[in-house]
Amino acid sequence: MADRMLQFVRLPQLQPEKRAVAERRADFDEIYRRFGPPEAARQASRCSQCGVPFCSVHCPLGNDIPDWLKLTAEGRLEEAYELSAATNNFPEICGRICPQDRLCEGNCVIEKGYEAVTIGAVERFLTDTAFAQGWVRTRRPARERGLSIGVIGAGPGGLAAAEELRALGYAVDVYDRHDRIGGLLIYGIPNFKLEKEIVFRRAEQLAAQGVRFHLNCEIGRDLPLGELRRRHAAILIATGVYRPRDLTAPGVTLPGIVPALDYLIASNRKGLGDAVPDFDSGLLDARNKRVVVVGGGDTAMDCVRTAARQGATSVKCLYRRDRANMPGSMREVKNAEEEGVEFLWLSVPKAFSGVQSVQTAHLSRMRLGLPDSSGRQSVEPSNTPSSRLEADLVIKALGFDPEDLPLQFAEPDLAVTRWGTLKIHHRSFMTSLPGVFAAGDIVRGASLVVWAIRDGRDAAASIHTYLDQEAAKFAVAAE
Ligand code: FAD
Ligand code: SF4
Ligand code: SF4
Repeated sequence: MADRMLQFVRLPQLQPEKRAVAERRADFDEIYRRFGPPEAARQASRCSQCGVPFCSVHCPLGNDIPDWLKLTAEGRLEEAYELSAATNNFPEICGRICPQDRLCEGNCVIEKGYEAVTIGAVERFLTDTAFAQGWVRTRRPARERGLSIGVIGAGPGGLAAAEELRALGYAVDVYDRHDRIGGLLIYGIPNFKLEKEIVFRRAEQLAAQGVRFHLNCEIGRDLPLGELRRRHAAILIATGVYRPRDLTAPGVTLPGIVPALDYLIASNRKGLGDAVPDFDSGLLDARNKRVVVVGGGDTAMDCVRTAARQGATSVKCLYRRDRANMPGSMREVKNAEEEGVEFLWLSVPKAFSGVQSVQTAHLSRMRLGLPDSSGRQSVEPSNTPSSRLEADLVIKALGFDPEDLPLQFAEPDLAVTRWGTLKIHHRSFMTSLPGVFAAGDIVRGASLVVWAIRDGRDAAASIHTYLDQEAAKFAVAAE
């Protein structure tokens, strides 16, 4: 066991071993093997225990990373787990799917010259070990407050808030239009990044804590928001963003050109054993097809890697910028390349053609121009001649916008930004409707799981403060 820290000069970085490509293409299981206690202790001991830990500064949850790394290196795993769980409701999920190369690890001071401490892998190891050892305790409240909160959306934002609020003694009812809880953790993110069991065990824990779930219940359709506001002392909206951005190229309505989330939901549901007619008919199955995915974010990476596992004959990813300017995690790009995905940088589809369904994507080449107002290099058509790509299945993964929530909830007073995300007070998380709060992607636009957790925690704290203040006002009025 490691007896001191700062071992980075002696010990090289070691990420958990990846399964062989042929093996991982043949199933949907997670691709990384797990650290055992000796590897976790050794890797944790590489940390230089910075006085100002940039890893923590760049973790959206402000995790106390150096301290739990030190405890891990010392073999004090239960304490390390407790410290990591103090700031994060789902550390084992973040350890698996945070883009660490852009967050904690990308900002680790030993990254330059020695390669970062493997923070995500240690975080995942700690909570997986805690579950195996029975250290993960259900956070039952010390006393009941006699007030109930309604949470709309059982994604990571809604679930983190639900756990915090229940622990404070509120009755918590979570409403979701899906038949399972987890939001994009279940229906968006594929099993090879995050196995469903990891989410299910959290769902069981929340149920044991006393959180009540109302599934297959879409607010705005099955229950009006007004009814929810009458039932509960406060409401949290954590509905995510689901309206897919579309392409405007001629031929884009041809059969065989499908939105990314339809494709991923079908694959995830199939894996869960559900009946999926559009998968069984072949429409959303990539088997024996030449697949073209348009986009360069996490969703596009999940689509290309799903297609590779479904037995596509070829998988190509078109992205309008270059590799250095991709929004998706570089680690995922590398995994996709290993799994046989071919990237066509600086390429966009300008039209599609085919007889009964799509057969050809016609491509324009782009080049990078000057930085725009955001500092990012703009893209413009280049003079390179256009080209063609044979395709049987085209998957559009261009990002998501919010649905029209004021319309959906029949609440015209629910204020939105010009992007359609919910307007909230930056500190209190309250929307323009009194007692109605919001968190996660519906506020930020498409973002990350770790940010949804952070928002859910902050919104829960704000709801608690708000209800305390309301109770105080009521007590004064009653005097
Ligand atoms: P969601 O997870 O979207 O959950 C919202 C929930 O609200 C859903 O369950 C939905 O059914 C429910 N809902 C919506 N409307 C209603 C209604 N009217 N009534 C009742 N229920 C409703 N992030 C990462 O950090 N790492 C990754 O690797 C990663 N990969 C991704 C891959 C894909 C394919 C996608 C699409 C996203 C990915 N993300 C990733 C982003 C991440 O999943 C989201 O940022 C995160 O899930 C947002 O959490 P949320 O709680 O705000 O919303
Ligand atoms: Fe890194 Fe994400 Fe864990 Fe924070 S939550 S330490 S960013 S893996
Ligand atoms: Fe340790 Fe790296 Fe964080 Fe410094 S930045 S405390 S070396 S993990």
